[in-house]
Amino acid sequence: MAKHRGRFPDILLAGTLFFSALARADPTPVQLDVDATDAPHQLLHTRLHIPAAPGPLTLYYPKWMPGEHLPGGPVNDVTGLEFSARGKPLSWQRDPVDMFAFHLEVPPGAAAVDVSFDFLLAAGGGVYSAGGSSTSRLLDLNWNQVLLYPRNAAPLEIPFRATLKLPAGWKFGTALPLAGSSPDHLRFATVPLETLIDSPVIGGEFLYTVALTPGEKTPHFIHVAADNATDLAGIPPDVDHYPHLIRLVHEENALFGAHHYREYHFLLTASDHVAHFGLEHHESSDDRVAASYLTDADTRTADAELLPHEMFHSWNGKYRRPAGLATPDYQQPMQAELLWVYEGLTSYYGKVLATRSGLQDAGAFRETLALNAALLDHRNGRQWRSLADTTVAAQLLYPPPGPGSSRRGSVDFYSEGDLIWLEADALIRQQTHGAKSLDDFCKSFYGGEDSAPRVVPYHYDDVVRALNDLAPSDWQGFFQKRVYEVTKRAPLGGIENCGWRLAWTNAVPPLLKIREGLRKNTSLDYSLGFSLGTGDGNIGDVEPGSPADRAGIIQGMKLVAVNGRAWSATLLRAAVAAAATNRAPVTLLTVNDDYYQTFAVDYHGGEKYPVLERDSLKPDLLADIIKPLASQPEPATNAPATK
Ligand SMILES: [Zn+2]
Repeated sequence: MAKHRGRFPDILLAGTLFFSALARADPTPVQLDVDATDAPHQLLHTRLHIPAAPGPLTLYYPKWMPGEHLPGGPVNDVTGLEFSARGKPLSWQRDPVDMFAFHLEVPPGAAAVDVSFDFLLAAGGGVYSAGGSSTSRLLDLNWNQVLLYPRNAAPLEIPFRATLKLPAGWKFGTALPLAGSSPDHLRFATVPLETLIDSPVIGGEFLYTVALTPGEKTPHFIHVAADNATDLAGIPPDVDHYPHLIRLVHEENALFGAHHYREYHFLLTASDHVAHFGLEHHESSDDRVAASYLTDADTRTADAELLPHEMFHSWNGKYRRPAGLATPDYQQPMQAELLWVYEGLTSYYGKVLATRSGLQDAGAFRETLALNAALLDHRNGRQWRSLADTTVAAQLLYPPPGPGSSRRGSVDFYSEGDLIWLEADALIRQQTHGAKSLDDFCKSFYGGEDSAPRVVPYHYDDVVRALNDLAPSDWQGFFQKRVYEVTKRAPLGGIENCGWRLAWTNAVPPLLKIREGLRKNTSLDYSLGFSLGTGDGNIGDVEPGSPADRAGIIQGMKLVAVNGRAWSATLLRAAVAAAATNRAPVTLLTVNDDYYQTFAVDYHGGEKYPVLERDSLKPDLLADIIKPLASQPEPATNAPATK
């Protein structure tokens, strides 16, 4: 439900990248016409009319997308590519080195080049905008999929005028301002390329829009698309069903004290037939979840962090962005070292804000910290690489996780970011005797005055300086030790300084039980040393040095029997529990590469699952951290969108 909006005010600051085209001479816009009427047949048809002067011209397909942290532009899904000028076809060559660049010669007398191609929605083999993004009933359109652009002096500022034709009867949602529309044919306002690419469109036969903050100065919306009316009816299009999301909007704004969007749109796709992820934008987030999100409380609990995380990025990642990620176009490689701030702080506050807004309870908040602390403390990869090395190499580590995650490490800057920023939060609270917290860092670093979207880059030293201004300490040394050096143990100081400690229980904790149900797996990571698929018995990553590893079990084996009986999750857990009371090993019959083999796992420690245990000698800072900031009435309990 985008509305027509006029031009944006010229309130740019030095060093900002966003929208600066509008302050300059207004060149002829690129016309982009996307025909999505074949989206149910997994095809998009695109046409571009690109102003150009006679002579050599190189056009680029976007390669590095903001927020994706990898060179994943789906150029291999571009087919039927044709160029012409004044109605005559032009020959073209792909650059022999850069697969995303196309060279052609604009003939004398021509003032523009026409480009047409089809985009294969079905391919979807990659992650993010290269992942599956359509079904027969809905479409998630990322504009970078369907355009080429010239790499001139200021590519992000090139004005684009886009139109979009949707299948008959489909509805849509986007933060991109409309200039006008007829049924199924949308005409958008002329915007800089950066704004266009930052403003995806969700469309579908079964889609509704809810205004979350009617009557307030800044509008916020959620658009929900599903594959059928039954799923969509799971949470009806009624604002009363979104009390915790409304609280989230208020909590995020109370935290920062100002925002850098004109409107904010959650674009929620609930489908089992698209790739599942969240991708942040200045004025919207592309949030893709399982269909059961609409009908099943457990799915919503497992995904409680998603919307808080993606919205937090509007400030941390979009408005304030590490200089290495604020590139001048979509071809230049990004330098991702500061992802421990960009993603790490967002991961921490995704959990905090989900709890402050009631999307999850305090128990789930503590359990996510316990699960992450246990995972990272056992991470074999931390023996050889620093957390900073996982950020620098982030482009190699998506999509997570996979075989070998323990030895290799993964995108640990998310979950380890939780622990490091929790420790920073606790330190500020202690240093200032409770007068200040990490919330004050958020307000000073990301808040300021309300504004339209813009990018203000930062460096590592800026983060350290802002923290020192708030609570003088050796912040340089703090991050050096935790982020830039190899640390054999996970940083557990935050949990401990908040009055809790990592402990173990022999009963599967509630959130882990939910995750196991959804992921269809069984976790024995901290007892035998692996997780496995509940249905197929496939053994996942085996923890180096664990009892299973010492017995010779490797990832990829299939479990067949436990102590001589056909295996089941219940039987396996019972065998682990029973082995704690005797000296007999747990025997596991497996099949691997067509060979059957029995392993005797000599383990007698019983079932072990991580939990946080209260340390009554210290004050409970976790309870303080999750206290809501925004003053507002408590929403009704048990609203469907919350649990
Ligand atoms: Zn993120």
